[in-house]
Amino acid sequence: MLWKEVCEIYNKIENTTKRLEKRDYFIKLINMVEDIGKPEDLKKICYLTIGRVFPEYDERELGIGSKLLIGAIVSTGIKEKELLEKIKETGDIGLAIEKLKSGIKQVSLFTRPLEIDEVYETLRKVAEIEGEMSQKKKLRYISSLFLRASPIESRYLARVILEDMRIGMNIPTIIEALSLYFNVPKEKLERIYAVTNDIGLLAEKLMEGNLDSEELKLRVFRPIKPMLAQLVPSIRDAINEMKLPQFETKYDGARVQIHKKDGKVKIYSRRLEDVTNAIPEIREAIEKLEADNFIIEGECVAIDTSTGKPRPFQDILRRFRRKYDIEKMIKEINLRVYLFDVLYYKGREYIDLSLSDRRKTLEEILGIENDWRKDREKIERELKSKKIIDISYKLVTDDAKEAEKFYRWSLGIGHEGVMIKNLDAIYTPGSRVRTMYKFKPTLENLDVVITKAKRGMGKRKDWFGSYEISIRDEEGNLYSIGHVGTGLTEEDLERLTKMIDEIIIEDLGEEVVVEPKIVVEVAYEEIQTSDKYPCGYALRFPRIVRFRDDKSINDINTLDDVKRIYEIQHTT
Ligand code: ATP
Repeated sequence: MLWKEVCEIYNKIENTTKRLEKRDYFIKLINMVEDIGKPEDLKKICYLTIGRVFPEYDERELGIGSKLLIGAIVSTGIKEKELLEKIKETGDIGLAIEKLKSGIKQVSLFTRPLEIDEVYETLRKVAEIEGEMSQKKKLRYISSLFLRASPIESRYLARVILEDMRIGMNIPTIIEALSLYFNVPKEKLERIYAVTNDIGLLAEKLMEGNLDSEELKLRVFRPIKPMLAQLVPSIRDAINEMKLPQFETKYDGARVQIHKKDGKVKIYSRRLEDVTNAIPEIREAIEKLEADNFIIEGECVAIDTSTGKPRPFQDILRRFRRKYDIEKMIKEINLRVYLFDVLYYKGREYIDLSLSDRRKTLEEILGIENDWRKDREKIERELKSKKIIDISYKLVTDDAKEAEKFYRWSLGIGHEGVMIKNLDAIYTPGSRVRTMYKFKPTLENLDVVITKAKRGMGKRKDWFGSYEISIRDEEGNLYSIGHVGTGLTEEDLERLTKMIDEIIIEDLGEEVVVEPKIVVEVAYEEIQTSDKYPCGYALRFPRIVRFRDDKSINDINTLDDVKRIYEIQHTT
């Protein structure tokens, strides 16, 4: 299929703000690929549409900065000065090159049109070039594409290369298009997507009529989107809904997904980033386990071994972010992983088994049970130990009084609350489910994204001192829900100011609009209804509690969450 045909559809997608129209244009694209009969083209188109060359689970990136891109364009004969001027005028390298190319008569070199295959494979090669002279080689490949690209093709080529398509297509809309076109329920595709994290592969297999393919099943070293919990107003509410609930301590740490095969271990964060190198002591402890060929999940906590209590969440982030002096950090910040689930073991998927079966297997893998009723003394003895791998503390009960006791005990040893899990429930990747609840004492903090920042006054004039914070709805639209200016140390303000400086979209003088990228967790007195904010709610006295680098904009709290917390506030 021709790159030009794809670009023409991208142009249409870009020119409508309506999500359903975007979806329908994408359906046209699927149809065009089907006419040609090349499912692998659909795979490639899917990746390029979201500005990638590798699947989403694969952390490799093209890694071409605007400087190299400009260099490549200039080497095709475009004048650098003109290009820079046009970029300033349009704010987009894609539009700039398109405009400049429109003024140039096409020469014979342009005649053989670019195929989608060539564009994709060339970019893939560019991504894989390493070592000496790599920049030069990359530049040569990229300019070879621009030499043959027409104006509109150049626009999207530049944007793909910068991994920023600006056409407003996202994975949920692609999944919806695939579901409608191939007449397969959206939920089924969402589930496969959560398992594979590979929209291109999913689309290709769909077109081949091969949804049962082994490639779409769980695979070690391909991280899977985690199952998430809902907030519940009271322990009794949760018990009423579940036949036999399992209570577990809710640890305040960072979620980890641990994969092991043939003795090799990889650990992924909640955002599915590979964090193995930052936490080598966990990797080693898992390597030492006799069991092999599995995917297990747990919460990684920083432990103060003098008190046995968890240390602030910020300490874990320090460990996870760390690239250097890791040995020193291991001595400073003790980590422990409380494992709580198994998704795959010895070639078999466990996600469709009940939690009770999964837990049994996990206990066998680790050789530990940690049943609070039986093992409480042992658990308490081990709190201050240097134990690295443990299993979550559990209590299976439908007695609210006993559960309440376990909850208070969990708080007493410094953790956040309890998880309440239905023992009959399967594991549903990527969904926030009603078979796993979280119960915490206070109103839940909210994860929000910074959308605007205001310059400070007086002592704070060099920093951005106040921030507009926003939540999202199910479709990804953002709604501001308050302004926050407190909770930050000077060091935080400095760091935040640097981060803000890099993502400014529009400078309004006193205030700047920023790309919604920085996720922070805020605490507040209460949620109020409000006429001032379009979402109808506002946070009273919000303050920033911590940066949530482990979360992306897709993970921030939603309008539905805010409504739910507002209701809980008024029923308890
Ligand atoms: P929060 O900010 O409250 O941690 P979240 O948005 O990160 O919430 P939720 O699904 O709302 O994620 O809460 C569940 C999280 O709690 C899990 O993602 C996991 O990281 C953590 N957790 C701690 N202890 C457990 C446990 N025993 N079982 C399952 N998850 C646990």
